[in-house]
Amino acid sequence: SVMDTDFMALLERAKAADANPTGEPLSFAGQVAVVTGAGGGLGKAYAILLGKLGASVVVNDLGGSATGQGSDSRAADVVVEEIRKAGGQAVANYDSVEEGDKVVETALKAFGRIDIIVNNAGILRDKSFARMTDADWDLVHRVHLRGSYKVIKAAWPHFVKQSYGRIINTASAVGLYGNFGQTNYSAAKLGIVGLTKTLAIEGQRKNILVNVIAPNAGTRMTATVMPPEMVEAFKPEYVAPLVAFLGHSSNEETGGIFEVGSGWVAKVRWQRSGGVGFPANRTLEPEQVAQAWDKITNFDDGRATNPNSTQDSFQGFMENFGNIEEGG
Ligand code: NAD
Repeated sequence: SVMDTDFMALLERAKAADANPTGEPLSFAGQVAVVTGAGGGLGKAYAILLGKLGASVVVNDLGGSATGQGSDSRAADVVVEEIRKAGGQAVANYDSVEEGDKVVETALKAFGRIDIIVNNAGILRDKSFARMTDADWDLVHRVHLRGSYKVIKAAWPHFVKQSYGRIINTASAVGLYGNFGQTNYSAAKLGIVGLTKTLAIEGQRKNILVNVIAPNAGTRMTATVMPPEMVEAFKPEYVAPLVAFLGHSSNEETGGIFEVGSGWVAKVRWQRSGGVGFPANRTLEPEQVAQAWDKITNFDDGRATNPNSTQDSFQGFMENFGNIEEGG
């Protein structure tokens, strides 16, 4: 279709982009990747691409329903079979990511090491907040946030020891911007952004680079809300190349948030207004905040910044220390 042609053109342009100006193939020979939730959807595309590029892949999938019920080993097996048929190396793991140590153990047993984690497994329990149950809240948090934590936690000592690791976590636009009926998912996904940001800081000296993506793709998770043409156009295969790049040894990016889908890749950052500094030696009244509201919330007066660290963030507070009003 016309759409597919446009996406292919974009992909070609992305391939020729700055990060790899010579367009050298990204090889993963000798490297071991764990991809969680790789039995279908996005995870399957990641596992197949990494396998094709020479990585030994642990295809993790619990094989349950989209709402996290049941389990089935076939989901992972089918993908392992596909990678092997294409000449790649892969093994299956059927544990829930809640048992991240078992997932990582599979990599160590089968391939003797671990280099890359793609935390991708996920479920949905969408409900308006009024109808949200503790079970809906907890299960979504256990799979997405705690599952990501557990897999990384088990691999971390190995990454530290070998001074090498690449982690790609999965957030969502819903985590970054919110969406009706998804408080549980939204909170867990933004939690994964926080996990990513801090791990990026803790891992940097050991060459452990940690990034997070907010993908868009037609999968079983989105098939219920996307029209069929969109499911077809938003192929997981358009997300996988970014994951491979971030997982590669040549990547130097860490702590980044990326929105990706349909062949489009972009980076997201925070923006903070210039703010209003009230005199630091005077009582601050709510009425003063109200009066300054337009200025507090103005991003367009040329004073907005893009803080990229807690130190950057703190700068605004520090500067107001000197804001002393004389007299009275
Ligand atoms: P999907 O349902 O097709 O794939 C998710 C996979 O994770 C399934 O194969 C499932 O069996 C597996 N899984 C679920 N719970 C698991 C557990 N506890 N342990 C191991 N495996 C488990 O969905 P998808 O669209 O491919 O989603 C992949 C990731 O991308 C998820 O984290 C999702 O939240 C995120 N995401 C997807 C989209 C999108 O547009 N598809 C948008 C934003 C975020």
